[in-house]
Amino acid sequence: MKNVLQNWVSVETSIAKAPFIELFLDFDGTIAPIESTPDRVLLPAGVRKILISLHKTGKCRVGIISGRALSDILQMVNLKGFYYAGNHGFEIAGPNLKFRYKLAKEQNESLQELFNELQESVGGISGVLIEDKRYSLSIHYRLVNPLEAAYVRKVVKESASNYPGLKLTKGKMVLELRPKVEWNKGDAVETIRESFSTKGLPIYVGDDKTDEDVFRKFSKGITVRVGRSEVSAARYYVNSHAQVYAMLGRILMILRRPR
Ligand SMILES: [Mg+2]
Repeated sequence: MKNVLQNWVSVETSIAKAPFIELFLDFDGTIAPIESTPDRVLLPAGVRKILISLHKTGKCRVGIISGRALSDILQMVNLKGFYYAGNHGFEIAGPNLKFRYKLAKEQNESLQELFNELQESVGGISGVLIEDKRYSLSIHYRLVNPLEAAYVRKVVKESASNYPGLKLTKGKMVLELRPKVEWNKGDAVETIRESFSTKGLPIYVGDDKTDEDVFRKFSKGITVRVGRSEVSAARYYVNSHAQVYAMLGRILMILRRPR
């Protein structure tokens, strides 16, 4: 795994050669710094400006691929002409594109039942935040006392094990539960790409476990993980948000050059 900024020459060559860029970005922890609670997270004004400028070049399509509910991520980013995937890809919206993954009745019921169960068992613990996102549940424990956090994780794992149709994944101070189906962020990115009449160069930046599905699927594209990790399928990494922003700025400079 190489640092993308330190190996920029080959990346730059690929970008300069491509007819256009397909820039797919995870939201939390990638373009927006993580905060104590998900509702405090904001897209920094500087990043917003770069994203708008990238889109304005006419040589870059931008997709935001998030675990948040689609309505939530739409509101957070709120930029026209962009593509959005919410709920780890279960909901997609964008220019001429609207997609909702169809869950089975039992899967919806399991999510609802487990949500109610968890509300009762751990929902009352100070700092626990359980989000019902309809297609998935998020149990945030960043603000929970560390001793209790272990208990919360244990209860969630145990309760989830009673629902074999649901899959548990661990994010940064959050546990996510979604239906065990063959559909993930990688499929969402592919669905968005299929709506393009011609293909550009895909670039994907993400920081978490669920982003690995995209890294694996687009192994020939430019895949960048926020934070170095030897087990990641991404080709490149950046050290920090600052480096994500620097990379976006460099892409913008290339796209603004006359050809
Ligand atoms: Mg993330």
